[in-house]
Amino acid sequence: MPIQLVTTAAQLRTESARLLTEKRGTSQGLVPTMGALHEGHAQLARTAVAENDVVVASIFVNPLQFGEAVDLDRYPRTLEADLALLEAEGVDLAFAPAVEEVYPGGEPLVRITAGVLADKWEGASRPGHFDGALTVVAKLLHYGLPGLGQGTYRAYFGQKDAQQLTLVQRMVADLNFPVEIVPVPIVRSPDGLALSSRNRFLSAEEREAALVLSRALRLVEERANAHEPLDLDSARALVESQPLVELDYFDVVDPRTLEPLAENCRETPFRGEGLVLIAAKVGPVRLIDNVPLDS
Ligand code: AMP
Repeated sequence: MPIQLVTTAAQLRTESARLLTEKRGTSQGLVPTMGALHEGHAQLARTAVAENDVVVASIFVNPLQFGEAVDLDRYPRTLEADLALLEAEGVDLAFAPAVEEVYPGGEPLVRITAGVLADKWEGASRPGHFDGALTVVAKLLHYGLPGLGQGTYRAYFGQKDAQQLTLVQRMVADLNFPVEIVPVPIVRSPDGLALSSRNRFLSAEEREAALVLSRALRLVEERANAHEPLDLDSARALVESQPLVELDYFDVVDPRTLEPLAENCRETPFRGEGLVLIAAKVGPVRLIDNVPLDS
């Protein structure tokens, strides 16, 4: 079926209710995105289509979560290609509202506060980012509520943005949102680079240099799987040996609290659960990546 583009909350509600009735459906999936879609987003859409009767993908570049106006202005916008990608995956509705539709009175006076989970890592270098991101996710989750007001409701988030995923899971649990959050594993290019809408801003040389991020993560993952000490220092040194890469953070944390794991977890043979987080600037682009540990 051709994808249908809707731009207002009212249209979305009407059309999703119509589709649920038409398909005699009982489940609706939401895939929130900022557009400039790639295979990572396609994987989210594919998973949602496999699990739900009706699937909505939202495309909205949220001004509230950008610190610098330049970053917002240069965020890539590729609506036609995005619609083609979503249609190929079988998504029913694309919800692409204007900023005025989402924030009719200007910036909202009441917002979600992300709390202590947002103080660290991405939050430390992007103040206010997660408050803005959670506020729009809360709104999108409400927009995407199944039009019939019943049935199963799921929303799909990539593990690529691990801190965002943890925060969304916490928000939904802490504030009783009637939605199941479904995490989707990171999609990488064959050479290991995690797909991102920002990769297009890397020169060929920078792209090559950026591979050190996933290499360092893999090194730690291999040690964890072999029940060896994680030896983050040597993996960090590998990243720091790459002159085009400016490392921001590289650490192993508890996936739920995002607190660094105690030293003794890193220095003895690794057992248990962890999440290795990395962020670095490569040329003009800030990249993030991570790998879950479970051994
Ligand atoms: P964005 O459009 O960058 O806000 O991302 C929208 C959703 O796609 C978020 O839930 C991201 O975590 C997810 N996503 C982005 N890149 C990837 C990737 N390489 N693999 C899996 N999910 C991704």
